[in-house]
Amino acid sequence: MNQPIVGHWIADKHVASNSGRTAPVYDPAIGVVTKQVALANEAEINSAVAAASSAFATWKDVPQAKRQQVLFKFRELLNERKPELAEIITSEHGKVLSDALGEITRGQEVVEFACGMPHLLKGFYTENASTGVDVYSTRQPLGVVAVISPFNFPAMVPMWFFPIAIAAGNTVVLKPSEKDPSAAIWMAELWREAGLPSGVFNVLNGDKEAVDGLLTHPDVQAVSFVGSTPIAKYVYETGAKHGKRVQALGGAKNHMLVLPDADLELVADSAINAGFGSAGERCMAISVVVAVEPVADTLIAKVTERMSKLRTGDGRRGCDMGPLVTREHRDKVASYIDIAVADGARVVVDGRNQEFDGDVNGFWLGPTLIDQVPTSSKVYTEEIFGPVLSIVRVKSFDEGVALINSSPFGNGTAIFTNDGGAARRFQNEIEVGMIGINVPIPVPVAYYSFGGFKNSLFGDTKAHGVEGVHFYTRGKAITSRWLDPSHGGINLGFPQN
Ligand code: NAD
Repeated sequence: MNQPIVGHWIADKHVASNSGRTAPVYDPAIGVVTKQVALANEAEINSAVAAASSAFATWKDVPQAKRQQVLFKFRELLNERKPELAEIITSEHGKVLSDALGEITRGQEVVEFACGMPHLLKGFYTENASTGVDVYSTRQPLGVVAVISPFNFPAMVPMWFFPIAIAAGNTVVLKPSEKDPSAAIWMAELWREAGLPSGVFNVLNGDKEAVDGLLTHPDVQAVSFVGSTPIAKYVYETGAKHGKRVQALGGAKNHMLVLPDADLELVADSAINAGFGSAGERCMAISVVVAVEPVADTLIAKVTERMSKLRTGDGRRGCDMGPLVTREHRDKVASYIDIAVADGARVVVDGRNQEFDGDVNGFWLGPTLIDQVPTSSKVYTEEIFGPVLSIVRVKSFDEGVALINSSPFGNGTAIFTNDGGAARRFQNEIEVGMIGINVPIPVPVAYYSFGGFKNSLFGDTKAHGVEGVHFYTRGKAITSRWLDPSHGGINLGFPQN
């Protein structure tokens, strides 16, 4: 059967690929390949960058008020039509429709933040910094920027970046994940409808070849990457070697520290939401509950009781949790359950032995709970990225903090307690970039910045918020004097007044 091929979006047009290479795109709830995605070759990479380069020459000087009008229009269209986009996400990623809508809303918040760009780009002005001399600053766009995104948030993660890049006057080449490429094309069409000039936003579909092409292209100035840690590190090093500004957000292993005084009903609800939402395919998912004894047994009983009510199935049927993104990924995630058994952990709930409300061929794995996970086990040390929640028991707050700080990841973490002093110490001592206090998934709002520490972020600038604005702009400081004859004369030293 001839399957549709998702191509590129270059200079405001759908562009078919002639690379001769494609990758399959699945509907994970039925386990069937529904389309193919084009994998760009060198000519297509060059064509996307050339379109963005030529658009930059005029977009950078479009008055801010006019840029904002396009941003506002994009926001309105997105808001009106997000159910369409949610359906696309569910059909390629598998997450349930309500969760797909949720990710679009979080992305939309960044669009709304970028609508305030004129204020964010304002510089400073100092009159009479020296006699008759004024000093002021401006921020200018960089040029063509590349955004390379992962499968798990096909709309939100690209929207962490491109609204800010575009509002600041840059032009964009987005390389989405080859697992769910259609959301990017849908957003490109929306930009055209919003009145964005041709070439300002382009979508290049592809795999490593496209990524390498962007990382080494002389006309790409900056790269924003989100994905697994090994690839993030590679992207950071390769991009930096080729003179690019790079922010590369990597993987995660997020811990939730539960103190004995915590509200265990809230903790149990939070562990379920943060462990199994989006089938655990979130970089801010909680994958380890660190229970300070004696809470573990009581907490496990409460979590298990809630897990028995979760419905896993087709995201279009009002279920709580959808399938995993591919069969291969499902099998890999499920293999950690066997590893847990071999390593002496106790499998409390096995997600393989459950009923699913969906096609038998869907990539199903139900919520899984594993207790007494040894910290030497791969179940603890590796990012699983699926609906597998581990429990590690510790004796004290200090032991819990030391454990979390010994992780090579530092994306998100949470503490649950009613003790303000303990929470305050946690916030101060923990080596993690995003911290929740009685909040399980502490994704910062759009006007703060998103990013972790250690292997969860390579580069020194986080996504969105003021750091995002700085990433996509470079500052100039201007020292100016309008000639006044009374202040002439030669002076080889620094001015003294
Ligand atoms: P991935 O690393 O496999 O892919 C990410 C991007 O890199 C994709 O666009 C892909 O095409 C490209 N890519 C894949 N292999 C490549 C290679 N060898 N060379 C160059 N480019 C390559 O990640 P994924 O499976 O799509 O996404 C899940 C991962 O992303 C998880 O590790 C998750 O924690 C992470 N993630 C992190 C954040 C964060 O903010 N830190 C957010 C979302 C996802």
